[in-house]
Order: sequence, then C-alpha cells, then structure tokens
Amino acid sequence: MAALDHVMDPEMPGVSIVALGMVHTVAVDRERVRITLLPPFVGCPALDVMRARAVSAVSQATGLEPDEIVVEYSAAVPWTSDRVAPSCHRALRSRGIAPPPRVTEEVMTEMPPVACPWCGSVDTEAEGVFGPTACRSIYYCRACRNPFEAMKPV
Ligand SMILES: [Zn+2]
Repeated sequence: MAALDHVMDPEMPGVSIVALGMVHTVAVDRERVRITLLPPFVGCPALDVMRARAVSAVSQATGLEPDEIVVEYSAAVPWTSDRVAPSCHRALRSRGIAPPPRVTEEVMTEMPPVACPWCGSVDTEAEGVFGPTACRSIYYCRACRNPFEAMKPV
C-alpha cells in the first residue's frame, strides 16, 4: 500500500491511486502479489498508465520481478467518488479543482451548486459537462470570475 501511494493519477498530478480510493485489495501468495483496483471511470485512458505504474512501484519497493505482480481492474465493487480521501479533497482544491460532493439523491438529481475551489463561493455555474478529462466538468465562478474544474460525483 505504501508503494501504491506513490502511484499518481496522470490526469491529476499529486493525487495517488490510494487517495482516490482505487485500491480494492492487495493479496500476497507464495508466487505473486495480486492487486485489484477499482476503475473510477470506465474507458478512462489513464487506466493502462496507472496499471503499469503500479507494477513498477511495487517492483521497486519489494524487489519482485514485474511478472510476479498482477494488477487487475475489477468491477466487483463499484467505485464511487465518496471513496476519495479528505486529503485528496485538499490536494484537488489547491490545484483549482472542486472535489466531488458526497453522493446523495439530491446531488445526483438536482445538481446543487458547486463551491469555487479558489474563493469558496457557491455563486457558480456549469459551463461544460466535459473538461479536459471525462471525470471533470468546467465551471465559472461569478464571485471571483475564475473558471475552474469540478470532479463529477459518481
Ligand atoms: Zn470563486
């Protein structure tokens, strides 16, 4: 787990796959380390990069050969944005990205306003459903007049 905490999401620099809540299980048997990750967004182009980085990080930390480390994605448990750690919320805000709100029925049906990560105002509006990545939307803050990205609740 310590090695995996050094594996960053390539689309969110400084945010590890552990902080994102992507690590489902780590199991060690006599022959291999088996790591199961939960994919946040199906079809996310970063998944293959994160798998390769996870193998490399565990290999370096343990001295195991890469073929002794199996990293798989599983849909056994659905990833939700509630798995994102509070430390990750702070890291996202410091990069101008609004963290995902707690998933409630109200959030999913009424899309309440998203707080601006720069000034905290909720006087914001959605500008576009898709930001630079599929997991983020573009917003505009009327209070401080800055655009910002928001991680979508899932
Ligand atoms: Zn603002």
